[in-house]
Amino acid sequence: MNKTLSVLSLACLTALTLPQGYAATYIHAGKLITAETNQMLSEQTIIVDGNKIIAIEGGYKTPAAGDTLIDLRQHTVLPGLMDMHTHFSSQISATSYGEGQRLNEADYALRGAVFAEKTLMAGFTTVRELGDSHHVSVALRKAIAQGFVKGPRIYAAGKSLATTGGHADPTNGLAYLLQGDPGPKEGVINGPDEARKAVRQRYKDGADLIKITATGGVLSVAKSGMNPQFTDDELAAIVSTARDYGFKVAVHAHGKEGMQRAIKAGVDSIEHGTFMDKETMALMKKYGTYYVPTISAGKWVQQKAEIDGFFPDLVRPKAASIGPLIQQTFSEAYKAGVKIAFGTDAGVGAHGDNWLEFVYMTEAGMPAMAAIQSATIEGARLLGMEQELGSIKAGKLADIIAVPGNPLDDIKTLGQVSFVMKDGQIYKQ
Ligand SMILES: [Zn+2]
Repeated sequence: MNKTLSVLSLACLTALTLPQGYAATYIHAGKLITAETNQMLSEQTIIVDGNKIIAIEGGYKTPAAGDTLIDLRQHTVLPGLMDMHTHFSSQISATSYGEGQRLNEADYALRGAVFAEKTLMAGFTTVRELGDSHHVSVALRKAIAQGFVKGPRIYAAGKSLATTGGHADPTNGLAYLLQGDPGPKEGVINGPDEARKAVRQRYKDGADLIKITATGGVLSVAKSGMNPQFTDDELAAIVSTARDYGFKVAVHAHGKEGMQRAIKAGVDSIEHGTFMDKETMALMKKYGTYYVPTISAGKWVQQKAEIDGFFPDLVRPKAASIGPLIQQTFSEAYKAGVKIAFGTDAGVGAHGDNWLEFVYMTEAGMPAMAAIQSATIEGARLLGMEQELGSIKAGKLADIIAVPGNPLDDIKTLGQVSFVMKDGQIYKQ
């Protein structure tokens, strides 16, 4: 009896592993940017099986019966775009300041789901969520991965780390009676012990990386947008603890002193980097630190600073003075050979408008192909995921998008993404 059952089971298993019902997806790409090299290819076929790219072949290959054909012969096909700096739990408006007093966690989460879908439909299949409220980015990451919500693949920092009164202290600007005394759990640290505890709390919260605010910032209700806000021993404690848990460290920084302290501590990326001078650029190259420019956020706060009452009085002069500088800093950093990964700070500016960063990068002297690579293979390298993501290559995850026309001739076509596949699944066609 037992023996008969075994034979039957084996027979069933054999039947299941036969390639019956096997179906691949063939994508006919009129033009193809794989991002592996800076070449544009013509008339290629990408073959996708499940969630993986299994081959790229020259010419238009004919699919077998049962396979799916996607005709993108009039399009440029490229890897899913990657934005290394987003905030899905917010989108700043004239009424944002004080919303924390009126909204609940569910409000932020529901908005986040909408912003995540907009971002995916704009062709961004992977993002780093660099600072949230109420654990929204971790919850969104799970909901997207489980198929409840449409959105990009998320690498979440959870709540950013700040020092007391620093850029991501969540009680900045509140009345004294409402401030309380936030600590490591809320992302506010003073001293190396609290720094370690805050990193470990992010691990417990389910974060994928650490975000710190190494200098003042534009949008916090505080006087300086550029003062250093962490000491060397706090930075050392954050980086060494982050490494224990396999976390990368992303650093908001405008001022030079805070930026240099963070680079020397061994962080992975500098965000914004407004007052990065030649000496700091040389330091970034020496340490291999990535620069994530967020020119879009600079432009956006500059525009809004012109509107009376849009920002609180403490914020307005910072927005007007810091915002316009980022594009020039980016231009100099690119020419100096600093490694660049694409990032917008979306949430400052509208989600889904991420593509505008390409326009600003190319305006500032970066060739279109390099800008596309900054948003694909370079993003993947910054994440440490270049074996799985960031280019169209056999063996990698099938994150593939397409735009009409040729983005090397007109960068604005990246704002007209008409096909989105993430993890082998089509979200827009
Ligand atoms: Zn940000």
